[in-house]
Amino acid sequence: MAKIAFVGLGQMGWPMASRLLEAGHDVTVWNRTQEKAEAFVERGARAAASPAEAVTGAEIAITMLADPEALEQVLFGPDGLGEALVPEQLLVEMSTVGPRIIRSVRDRVPKGVLVVDAPVRGSVPEATDGRLAILVGAEPEVFGLVEPILRTFGTPTRVGGPGSGAAMKLVANSALGAAVAAAGEAIALGDALGLDRAAMLDVLSETPLGGVIRNKRESIEAGSYPARFKLSLALKDLRLVTETAAEAGRQLNVAAASRDWFQEAADAGLGGLDYSAVIATIMGDRQAPHR
Ligand code: NAP
Repeated sequence: MAKIAFVGLGQMGWPMASRLLEAGHDVTVWNRTQEKAEAFVERGARAAASPAEAVTGAEIAITMLADPEALEQVLFGPDGLGEALVPEQLLVEMSTVGPRIIRSVRDRVPKGVLVVDAPVRGSVPEATDGRLAILVGAEPEVFGLVEPILRTFGTPTRVGGPGSGAAMKLVANSALGAAVAAAGEAIALGDALGLDRAAMLDVLSETPLGGVIRNKRESIEAGSYPARFKLSLALKDLRLVTETAAEAGRQLNVAAASRDWFQEAADAGLGGLDYSAVIATIMGDRQAPHR
């Protein structure tokens, strides 16, 4: 069993770290909001006073944080984990942060530390049941080192060399953001044309947007969007998509338009709801959708 530092006990991190404990690993946690780490100790983990303390003596450090800014803070802020790492230790970064910060982290951690980007597809139920799809960017021999631990969370797939997991996750979420925004626009059009909502959702569920409609139909019909994947995080992902594309010399018009819808929804105060609440904004739901 491995000694593991796990940093970030949010909606995804909590069930993921729980699975490590259930598998018998020796887990030390750190979370910005200390109460969450203290509550997690009751499950059999240790809580560290800082990210640096969490990684001391660990074989592997895993980060599951909101965004690139949070990762920067945890790694290179006061008592940061990044500078406390020692050669042979592995840093497995599982948040959605894009390839740029992964490159920068690799350049700044002490020599001999292995950095693996391993963001995930799937949400809270998949994290709870160990059914996440894990997009790993690593050389084959390093993939071999992390694969057994990553199997605790789901199915790891090596999608290319270092950085390609973080890049692949942006590709996947550009599709997710565009699909949910397109679904919102299709419903808004049908509403404006006076169509019956249920009949319209039946038709849309047989189109290329069927996956979104089938997954989110209950929320759309109830006007209730309890957060599994927060809208604020989907907005962050679409920002990363458009910025990363621009750096690579690509202009993505659909991604930019989807990002603007998510920005409008966040500005309307929906950032803490599920990302699919963007549909309510696009539909022009004047009544604020509730949790
Ligand atoms: P979350 O519930 O918002 O948790 C975010 C975590 O980051 C919390 O532990 C939070 O600490 C920490 N954090 C935020 N800002 C910080 C800062 N400045 N310094 C230190 N810690 C900070 O998010 P989540 O849903 O677990 O998602 C985690 C990552 O996985 C994100 O990158 C997300 O895009 C990605 N993801 C999410 C899903 C999903 O369905 N939820 C699916 C796939 C991928 P506090 O507890 O103190 O707030």
